Amino acid sequence: MGTPRGLEATPLIKDGVLYTTSSWDVVHAMNAKTGDTLWTHDPKVPRDRALFYCCDVVNRGVALYRGKVYVATLDGRLIALDERTGAPLWSVDTTEGGKPYSITSAPRIARGMVVIGNGGSEYGVRGYISAYDAQTGKFAWRSYTVPGDPSRGFESKAMEAAAKTWSGDYWKAGGGGAAWEGIVYDPALDLLYFGTGNPTAWYRAIRGGGDSLYTASIVAVHAGTGEIAWHFQTTPGDNWDYDATQPLVQADLNIHGVARKVIMQANKNGFFYVLDRKTGEFLSGAPFVSGITWATGLDRKGRPLEAPGVATIKPVIVSPSPDGAHNWHPMAFSPQTGLVYLPAKVGTQSVHAPDPKWKYDPNNVNIGLDPMYDGELNAKLQTMPPATGKLLAWDPVAGKEAWSVTYPTLEGGGVLVTGNLVFQGRADGVLAAYRATDGKELWKFDTGTGIIAPPVTYLVEGVQYISVMAGWGGPLALFNPPGSGPVKPGFGRIVTFTLDGAAKLRALPLSRKSRPDPPIAVNASKQVVHEGELLYTFHCAPCHGLNAVAGPLPDLRYSGKEVMDGIEDIVLRGTRAESGMPSFQKLLNARQVRAIQSYILSRARESAAGNPPKP
Ligand code: CA
Repeated sequence: MGTPRGLEATPLIKDGVLYTTSSWDVVHAMNAKTGDTLWTHDPKVPRDRALFYCCDVVNRGVALYRGKVYVATLDGRLIALDERTGAPLWSVDTTEGGKPYSITSAPRIARGMVVIGNGGSEYGVRGYISAYDAQTGKFAWRSYTVPGDPSRGFESKAMEAAAKTWSGDYWKAGGGGAAWEGIVYDPALDLLYFGTGNPTAWYRAIRGGGDSLYTASIVAVHAGTGEIAWHFQTTPGDNWDYDATQPLVQADLNIHGVARKVIMQANKNGFFYVLDRKTGEFLSGAPFVSGITWATGLDRKGRPLEAPGVATIKPVIVSPSPDGAHNWHPMAFSPQTGLVYLPAKVGTQSVHAPDPKWKYDPNNVNIGLDPMYDGELNAKLQTMPPATGKLLAWDPVAGKEAWSVTYPTLEGGGVLVTGNLVFQGRADGVLAAYRATDGKELWKFDTGTGIIAPPVTYLVEGVQYISVMAGWGGPLALFNPPGSGPVKPGFGRIVTFTLDGAAKLRALPLSRKSRPDPPIAVNASKQVVHEGELLYTFHCAPCHGLNAVAGPLPDLRYSGKEVMDGIEDIVLRGTRAESGMPSFQKLLNARQVRAIQSYILSRARESAAGNPPKP
C-alpha cells in the first residue's frame, strides 16, 4: 500500500472489485481476484495538521452506494467518487471552521443519505454527526452530541436537557463527545446508532462535575431528521477517556424467552452492553475482562457503581487504560453460534494525573493531564504486570465468556466470523483461524507486518477469498510501550487467501541500523536530561515512542547530524511539516527543545553502548 503507517480499513467488495483505503485517506480500487489496481484517489490531506491527529493518520474504509464510493478525510472532507473511474463527483467540508476536528471513520448510508461523524475530543471540539444527500452532497441535517453556548439558544430539547448535566463554561472547550467511529443503521426501525467520545477535558474534577451528556454514550437518532430518539450513557461523568465509540452490532436475540432486537457493544470501559435497540432499554451488562478498577459493577439500569477515589484531582492508576479493554476494532456476531467475537485487552493500566491549572488552549491537546507529572505512580506503573491480549468469544445472552485464546501480543486486530471459522490478525503479523464453537486454532499465517484491521471474506466466480490489510499503526503502535509483546512494523499491504492459494509473500522489512550512532555529544546536566524526558514523553512519545524507542515512525535515537543540528528548525519552524512532522512553535521553546534533544541523545548513547532499550 506504499506506507509504513497504520491500516485500519474494512475493505468492501462489489462485482469483483475491492475498495479500501490506506494511510492519509488514499482510496484504492482493485481487482478482488488478483489485487491489480484499477484506480486510486489521493485526497491530498495537508500533512502539517498532524499535531491534531491523535491516533495515527488512519482511515477505516469507504461506503458504496448506487455507483459511488464515499470517503471521509482527516481534514474533515466527505468526498464522492465514481465507482468505475475514481473521478471525484462532489466534495463537502463537514467540519466547522478551523477547529481541530478530524475524521478517521468510514461513512455510512441511510435513507439515501451519507452519514459521517468526526473526532477531536482530546483537542476540544463539539461532537456531531451530519447527513448529506448521497447523490448530490447537499446538506440534510446535523445532530450534536453535546450542548453549545446557552446564550445562543439550544438546537433541541435534547441539548437543553443535556446542558443541565454540565458545569461552568463547558462550551468554551467544545465539550467533546465526538462520534468518531461506529455509525450503524436499522432500516426497519429507521434509527441510526452511534457512540460518543469523552468530554473535554478528560477530568471531571477540572470540568466541574456532572454527567456531561451525551458524552461516553450510545445514541439513537431518527434517520430522517437526526433528532435523538434515545440515549444510554455507558460512563456518566467520564474521567478516564472511556469513549463509547466501539463498534455497535445489531442482532435478534432470545433473552429469557423474549425475542429482542438488540444492539451490543464491548465498551472501552470493560463492560459488555446489550440494549433493546428500539427503546434503548438496558437489558444486561457484564465485565468482559478482569481487573477493572474504576467501577465495582452496574446497577439495575446499567449505571456504573463508581469505585471511590478514582475521579478526584489526585493522581491515580486506573484500569482499563484510555486504550480500553476494547477499542475501535470490529467485532463479529455469529447467529449460528450465538456468540460475539472480539479482541479484548486484559489488565491495561494508566496513570491519571489531572492538572488543576488546566485551561483550554486551542493550540494544544486539552485532555487536562498534568504534562509534567513526575510522581511516584509513574514508577509504580512500571512494576505492574503487563497487559495481555486475547480473542474473546462472548455469550451475550448469558453475559459471560464462552471461550478465549490469549495470544503472545497485546494488540489484536478486528474479527471476522464465516461459517464455523473465526479469523483474526494481530500485532505480531499473524493471521489465524479458529473454530467458532470452541476456539481451537486451525490455521495461521505470518504476513510479516502487524495487523489491526479486520479480515473480510467474499466470493468471486464461486471461489471464496479471505482478505486483510496488514499495516502496523494506531496509537499503541506509535507510543510503543514496553510489555506489549512482539510487534511488527513494516510496509503495509493487503494480503488475500484462497484454499489453493500458491503465491509467495516477499519480505518487506523496515530497514533500521542495529545500533544508534549519536552524531553529537550531550552536554547537559542530569536535571536537564530528566526535564527533556518528561517533555519528550508528553509531546513526542505519542508518535516517536515511549523511552525514545519508536514503532513505525522515525526512531529519534538514530537521527543523523543533519537532524540533530537542525532540530530547532524541525520542531519549532516546521521544516519537515510536509512529511507529517508539525511545528511545535506554540507549545515549546528553544530551551525545551534542547532539553528534549539531550534526552534523545542520552538514550541514543545508552543504546549505542549496548544497553537494551528500556526494558
Ligand atoms: Ca477519546
